[in-house]
Amino acid sequence: RALLEQAGTSTSNALLVPQSRANEPSLADLKNAIDTKQISVAYQPKIFCRTGTLSGFEVLARWQWHGHWVSPETFIAMAEEHGLIDDLTRLIVEQSLAWFASVSQYVPVAGLTTMRSTTLSLNISAKSLNNQALLNWIVEQCDEWKIERNRLILELTETSATSEFVTALDTLTRLRIKGFHLAIDDFGTGYSSMVQLVQLPFSEIKIDKSFVMANRNSAVSSAVVRSIIDLGRSLNMLSTAEGVEDATTLDFLKELGCDLAQGYHIAKPMPAEAVIPWFERREST
Ligand code: C2E
Ligand code: CA
Ligand code: CA
Ligand code: CA
Repeated sequence: RALLEQAGTSTSNALLVPQSRANEPSLADLKNAIDTKQISVAYQPKIFCRTGTLSGFEVLARWQWHGHWVSPETFIAMAEEHGLIDDLTRLIVEQSLAWFASVSQYVPVAGLTTMRSTTLSLNISAKSLNNQALLNWIVEQCDEWKIERNRLILELTETSATSEFVTALDTLTRLRIKGFHLAIDDFGTGYSSMVQLVQLPFSEIKIDKSFVMANRNSAVSSAVVRSIIDLGRSLNMLSTAEGVEDATTLDFLKELGCDLAQGYHIAKPMPAEAVIPWFERREST
């Protein structure tokens, strides 16, 4: 009887919830989440393939809405479309630089590796590239937290670098001159021509996870991975493979001379408080 009553209650409750509430968050929900700082961040480690040493962390936005995690693909696209991306970026930069400044002070209990030489990778939307105020603000934040600018890597997707090439070239060059490193994200999924790539001041090329994840079952994918690593090497850029989910793939990348690896096999994106325990565990094994 109690169960029936419960079931009845939850059904009637569900009917009271407005349609948009029940499925997907609305634009107002996102705006509210940004205004009340409910968007958090997760950090995913990146290691050197050859040595297994920690190289740095990528910052990934996280939003828990009514008990479930909304995919960043969804809410980032929403934010970009409705002019909220710059506010969202500020929120993410604020949180992650504060964390990075504090974690950089951390001296491990055992082992020689410190956090002082690690890097922090931030995803920057193409839409923000022409927002000089936002970019200047990131520079200021970095200086305020006394983080060396060359420890920050700004990740831009391939398409963002090519859509308005001339403006992008100008902005990216200025960011590079200021000392930031630039990474080209999701490489292989867009349509950048090699000519443009050579002219843009990128120092890292990230191979899209779709190729990396498929390498074991697809000759085409492994050929793509191989050729992007070669391309990176000949352009004097570091190559990073994302989506490394198993040891076999990591070995394969090592053999090909890929510089860096990121993926579930190494670590999943994690909340700030889980990073040091993860690092300690890794150092002690
Ligand atoms: P991305 O920049 O390519 O980030 C890598 C994505 O791959 C992340 O998804 C990460 O959780 C996932 N990933 C990492 N390792 C593995 C693996 O081994 N296997 C699989 N299957 N997936 C793996 P996430 O966190 O869902 O983010 C999706 C995208 O949303 C990001 O792709 C990025 O384009 C965008 N994004 C996330 N945070 C931000 C942000 O703060 N600002 C902007 N502008 N975009 C962001
Ligand atoms: Ca990225
Ligand atoms: Ca990527
Ligand atoms: Ca992506």
